[in-house]
Amino acid sequence: MSAGPLPGWVDRVVQFDEDSFGIPTMKFLIPLERHPAERRVAATPETIKRLLERGHSAVVESGAGKAASFPDSAMREAGAEIVQEISWSGTEALLRVGPLTSDDVDKLPEGCLVIGLLDPYMHLEAVARLAERRVTSFALELLPRITRAQTMDALSSQASIGGYKAVVLAATKLGRYFPLLMTAAGTVPPAKVVIIGAGVAGLQALATAKRLGAVVEVSDIRPAVKEQVESLGGRYIEAPQTEAAEDQGGYAKEMDEDFLARQRARLAKHIAAADVVITTAQVPGRPAPRIVSREMIEGMKPGSVVIDLAAPSGGNCELTRSGEDVVHNDVLILGPANLPATMAHDASTLYARNVLALIEHIAPEGRLTIDPADDVQSGALLTHDGEVINPAVKKALLERGD
Ligand code: NAD
Repeated sequence: MSAGPLPGWVDRVVQFDEDSFGIPTMKFLIPLERHPAERRVAATPETIKRLLERGHSAVVESGAGKAASFPDSAMREAGAEIVQEISWSGTEALLRVGPLTSDDVDKLPEGCLVIGLLDPYMHLEAVARLAERRVTSFALELLPRITRAQTMDALSSQASIGGYKAVVLAATKLGRYFPLLMTAAGTVPPAKVVIIGAGVAGLQALATAKRLGAVVEVSDIRPAVKEQVESLGGRYIEAPQTEAAEDQGGYAKEMDEDFLARQRARLAKHIAAADVVITTAQVPGRPAPRIVSREMIEGMKPGSVVIDLAAPSGGNCELTRSGEDVVHNDVLILGPANLPATMAHDASTLYARNVLALIEHIAPEGRLTIDPADDVQSGALLTHDGEVINPAVKKALLERGD
């Protein structure tokens, strides 16, 4: 799949140094992520070693890996230079976890390379600035979900952590056991868990809740999901009848209010019987579908727990507040804004490997090589040579009037 006509494509956009073997190399800058909830880092000692083996160099801002338990000493031992203050203006290649603000982009030199989870739909202003500054940027969330891109698939590595942690969080908040227990004091029934959305996070939540012994029901709107749910031991809740619910990229389509009302009616009795509800339903680039209403929460048992993983994109539950804990009618509703960051060590380890795999893909010989015919690149390439390349993000910018 190509991203369409791509003016000004060149195979080399950044003038990198040549090392003693004549291979152009990149100097990767790994800054400390400054968002208060962000604990992950985009490179680890493992990936830094690999970059150095390929002739690149790495500069790490002091403390960048600390919250993920990768101290400066480990980064230095791997071969990185540690600096107290990074020089944004001298950046050749920047490795990020979270998105850049427009102010961040304005500090970058023209023509540099940026790789990260740039959250483009929520940061359209920064995307426009990246293009204006002729930055070559790759947004990992735009990678096509194809087998060839699996090693780079940061959405999957991080969503899987989110799904696992949601269950662990629910188990710590619930005043009940997850497993069936036969005790001298009598039998304790297993917890009932309902999961809405069976993408990567939902399937990992299903597997984790099953391992803890819960009875798990799962709802989704993509027909392919039923078999996956059943193979993991979940009970599938059939979705209301609809036209094709899946787009060509394998993502769910945005459903209209009539469908969502029928879906809520179908789910109400399952949610009323649940001890835990974990919602993960998302539609890329769109607000999360509203699937759990106030009335449905009011129908739940006291002490039940809802974990809404779609909170950052507006929430699947009407009462969710992103980053906050809400108690309504004795039901606890958590809207964690960044669960992967709460498991920063493993999240960073996997994310850094995803980033490294993308670098190896776009710079196989050390030199950045942009190939418009390559579907991995044409999907994830956000801006290049003064243009916004990803067609969906470009459309969102045009609709916004840029
Ligand atoms: P996502 O985060 O975009 O959405 C999560 C889930 O919510 C999806 O399963 C979606 O169908 C569901 N959903 C959306 N609207 C809903 C609604 N109204 N009610 C119930 N559920 C709803 O999904 P994801 O985890 O990023 O996965 C997206 C796609 O990518 C899936 O098809 C997945 O199988 C595929 N994928 C492929 C690969 C690969 O390498 N081939 C890897 C990972 C994911």
